[in-house]
Amino acid sequence: MNPQLAGRLAKLDIHGMRDLVLHLPLRYEDETRVTAIEVARAGFPAQVEGEVLSCEVQLRPRRQLVARIADASGSLVARWLNFYPSQQKQLTVGSRVRLFGEVRGGFFGDEMVHPRVKPVAAGEGLPEALTPVYPTTAGVGQATLRKLIDRALKTVPLDDLLPEPIRRQLDLPGFAEAIRSLHHPAPDADAYSLENRETPGWRRIKFEELLVQQLSLRRAYNARRARGAIALAPRGRLPRALVEALPFALTGAQARAGAEIAADLACAHPMQRLLQGDVGSGKTIVAALAMLQAAENGWQSVLMAPTEILAEQHYRKLAAWLAPLGLEVAWLSGSRKKREREAELERLKSGELLLAVGTHALIEDPVTLPRLALAVVDEQHRFGVRQRLALRDKGEHGQHPHMLMMSATPIPRTLAMTHYADLDVSVLDELPPGRTPILTKLVSEARRKEVVERVRAACQGGRQAYWVCPLIEESEALQLKTAVETYEALAAALPELKVGLVHGRLKPAEKSATMAAFSAGELQVLVATTVIEVGVDVPNASLMVIEHAERFGLAQLHQLRGRVGRGSAESVCILIYAQPLSETGRARLKVIYEHTDGFAIAREDLRIRGPGEFVGARQSGLPLLRYADLERDAELIKAARELAERLLTEAPVVADRLMARWLGGREALLRA
Ligand code: ADP
Ligand code: MG
Repeated sequence: MNPQLAGRLAKLDIHGMRDLVLHLPLRYEDETRVTAIEVARAGFPAQVEGEVLSCEVQLRPRRQLVARIADASGSLVARWLNFYPSQQKQLTVGSRVRLFGEVRGGFFGDEMVHPRVKPVAAGEGLPEALTPVYPTTAGVGQATLRKLIDRALKTVPLDDLLPEPIRRQLDLPGFAEAIRSLHHPAPDADAYSLENRETPGWRRIKFEELLVQQLSLRRAYNARRARGAIALAPRGRLPRALVEALPFALTGAQARAGAEIAADLACAHPMQRLLQGDVGSGKTIVAALAMLQAAENGWQSVLMAPTEILAEQHYRKLAAWLAPLGLEVAWLSGSRKKREREAELERLKSGELLLAVGTHALIEDPVTLPRLALAVVDEQHRFGVRQRLALRDKGEHGQHPHMLMMSATPIPRTLAMTHYADLDVSVLDELPPGRTPILTKLVSEARRKEVVERVRAACQGGRQAYWVCPLIEESEALQLKTAVETYEALAAALPELKVGLVHGRLKPAEKSATMAAFSAGELQVLVATTVIEVGVDVPNASLMVIEHAERFGLAQLHQLRGRVGRGSAESVCILIYAQPLSETGRARLKVIYEHTDGFAIAREDLRIRGPGEFVGARQSGLPLLRYADLERDAELIKAARELAERLLTEAPVVADRLMARWLGGREALLRA
């Protein structure tokens, strides 16, 4: 194969013959029939056959190849905006061609734009089965792919790797049979089921794909679990003391998750646990209890958060909770003065300080944590693999720390079962008592004045309000400008109130001073960009206004709304939107308006966006699912998960061969 073609195929993630076999059609086209040009209808794909009446390169309005084809019933125009000289040759006047494409009503009558062309002899037979259409990339035509795939189908062994009883139990066809049925559908194949990936062949392939994903994730999990870690005995004195000192009782969910984590920490292999809990479900205290388990065994633990604001808030909370227990917490962020930091770094290095909270400053070089036994990562999806690995390698005792990942972006169950199968999961599925549900209102931009009045009323009633400025993804400068203007306009409209502003460009010290003032009630209105998105906790704030809400993602809206409803007061979230709404914008607003449960919102989000973006932030190198669908194939996911466990213990060689078939060498990419 020439290197240029090989390079292009690599873009399709095809690195060898084996990958070609698993490069399955995106859809199918029906070329088994020829439609008379006269009958071909606008808006539908069709195949027509006729003689080329004319063919020329036109230069206006832009360079394009235009041909007219006629059959006994009529004629149509075919048009290519990008074309090769070879294409032009296929269309010499008087030659006979078949065109496949969608018919559109054009200025000069019916036309096809970019149809596929096939030169034919008069009376040449038609294909008997549906024609596969493959995912492709620039410079690799369908014909080339088909030829390559057919060759691969002849040379690559298609032996069945699934144990026979499993196949029978799940009623799946053999591998070879399944693969062939997808690349070369039988003449009587049901086009609808094939398109919808519902045939037995598709089921078999989807199952195998899911199985391989489970195998690789479980294997990564087992490999990490095989390493040593510091066993932290659950003595319980410090955690108990903290729980007793809290002004509230733990929820059942918190107690349950806490117990799961405590049991993990007591083991001599590293914990790999995801603590999932909706906004406001109280993850911080669960993390604090785990950190205390490390501390009372004389080992260090850290809590890393993605933003300065959030890290500082964690620090304040932990420091206040732990001071009465006689424990000090180090605070590591980019904003601290060098001298202050140095003293703390020294005490962390000596092992005298056992607890630290910080931003990614924690993983930077001068920080040494020789006795690190537990690392907690808040909003884990905000960190990349590399950052988590750097944290993992901070200890100097040759063993991995226990890892507790926290996420307030609820992950739908099917997604957790697939893409997060390498983690144990604890879920906080219960909010602390006494929260009043948040009322969500959708308000068009024209009624902005009324919203300002609501802010005034809420603050006069002793509450506080957030005003979130529009997200402007294209330009940070513009976003900043808008934030400043919004701030000035609100300050002018509400002269009797103290209004503050936070945005990403402020110096960390300024940001934290503003946040502290809002927290203390010295500011009543906080105008903010999305820097407040994660984790900020000011229970007295009861009104959240989000401008241009249609521009925000669902997870973001849910996070932002979760900043209120944290106290006992009736809370309101006002989503201001601008017309006209795009279809997805409208869909998102509808979801956020109708649902308050994070898991329900995540499920809808998954439906609207697909899993790619969801897990994209995980930066994992994890192969995404190409064929299986989390929503529709939930049944297969369960079966794949169970079989993966069994294969790994009972038939590891089969597991190896399955992974080799699907992943080639790519398994090495799986994050450690
Ligand atoms: P999140 O899960 O979003 O990180 P936090 O840990 O910030 O939630 O907790 C949200 C708020 O709820 C905090 O003010 C916290 O002190 C409070 N809280 C946590 N657990 C409980 C509980 N069991 N009862 C009452 N309030 C609680
Ligand atoms: Mg939090």
